[in-house]
Amino acid sequence: MIAASRCPACGRVAAPPRDRCQGCRARTDDETLDPEGTVLTYTSGAEGWIALVELAGGARTWVQAPSEPTIGERLSVDA
Ligand SMILES: [Zn+2]
Repeated sequence: MIAASRCPACGRVAAPPRDRCQGCRARTDDETLDPEGTVLTYTSGAEGWIALVELAGGARTWVQAPSEPTIGERLSVDA
């Protein structure tokens, strides 16, 4: 599982966790998420492939991918 936060007011989930909701600025609660998500898009950079992965609850996070990802592929963000 990976650390995240969930807003009790609007339900927004963020990973990595944030003290305050990016949507409504309310204080968030700690949350843990399944580290596996769906690749939304990806790009390549100096350190290789980087994928934008959507996790449960809609949290989105960039992770390094071992090889060129496929959009819609399941990818674990657990490093
Ligand atoms: Zn909120």
